[in-house]
Amino acid sequence: MKYRLLTPGPTPVPEETLLELARPVPYHRTPEARAILKEVLEGVQYVFQTQNDVIALTSSGTGAMEAALVCAVPRGAKAICAYAGRFGERWHKLWQAFGIESVPVTAPYGKAVSPQQIEAALKAHPDAVAVCVVHSETSTGVKHDLAAIGPLVAKTQALFIVDAISSAGALELRTDAWNLDLVATGSQKALRMPPGLAFVSVSPKAWQRIESHRPAAFYFDLSRYRAKLKDPDTPFTPAHTLLRALQISLRRIRAEGIENIWNNCARLARAARAAVHAMGLELFAEVPAEGLTAIKVPDGLDGVELLQRLEKKYGLKLAGGQDHLKGKIVRLAHMGYIDFFDVLAALVGLECVLAEMGHPVRLGSAAAAAQQAWLGT
Ligand SMILES: *Cc1c(COP(=O)(O)O)cnc(C)c1O
Repeated sequence: MKYRLLTPGPTPVPEETLLELARPVPYHRTPEARAILKEVLEGVQYVFQTQNDVIALTSSGTGAMEAALVCAVPRGAKAICAYAGRFGERWHKLWQAFGIESVPVTAPYGKAVSPQQIEAALKAHPDAVAVCVVHSETSTGVKHDLAAIGPLVAKTQALFIVDAISSAGALELRTDAWNLDLVATGSQKALRMPPGLAFVSVSPKAWQRIESHRPAAFYFDLSRYRAKLKDPDTPFTPAHTLLRALQISLRRIRAEGIENIWNNCARLARAARAAVHAMGLELFAEVPAEGLTAIKVPDGLDGVELLQRLEKKYGLKLAGGQDHLKGKIVRLAHMGYIDFFDVLAALVGLECVLAEMGHPVRLGSAAAAAQQAWLGT
């Protein structure tokens, strides 16, 4: 049986990138290694649509967020943390762990925090020095409207920090046009790579703030990385074999074109949503992100068993809900190296499993709806 990885991280890795990962490990302080790093940083700038500096870190996405959150906000200062899901909540806890007064601005899981809520929070807390928002909240499948929030934050002294871990390379993301000061991502979501690398872009406004205080960080002190950016190098041993592999994935992303990739993701999302409705199921997210679809498990069905059947019988690995959503939702990724036929396989497999579990479905309806939406008919 063929195994198909369709979770919203990690995601499948293209064959040519996997082959690169099979090559011997070279030394890392060489002109060749610096040339690879340079190309990778430029590639991430392209994915982020930014001229800002990009810093490469050897960590998962959380490391890049920790670097951004801790370097941007001094201990004892106040910051606004918007969240409507598990990842946003993580950043709220992270700030608290570093002695930062994190003001929560929330919405129930499945909904999005509105730009109006952020605007009101900025008015109520003019001393806030940062605002943190998760672009694509992977735990619920919800998208936040960065284009609307960016200009609101830009008018204030606050820095706009964005978790783009599952959105960079999947959703429209315009770092410069939307005034995003610090944008973080990890390699294993839409960048077509295994886990292990993380990136954060830093605007001039953010650098000014970061350089004005001594961050409660050492490994994740972004100024150390900035100092090495000319003829780029890294302050610590980089995961240079991963960087070499990412170079391959980024070349492919460039060849496809970032706007085409965004459009393709949106098209896959439309196909997935149409199939969900055709099966008589509901979406969990009120404002769904294009990189994944969160589907409500119908009442009376065991969501954990449903996922087990998909994996064991059909080789389809989808994700479930986390914490209180465990067993209640199914999350299907359609980002990175996942194409229409992968998504179709998942949807048809889901329909098969629903039928096996005695849920009323009309076989063929998921595929038909997905095809129609895909073709735009
Ligand atoms: C996956 C994910 C994270 C966590 O990233 P790690 O790489 O596991 O540290 C954080 N935020 C979002 C939105 C994610 O999708």
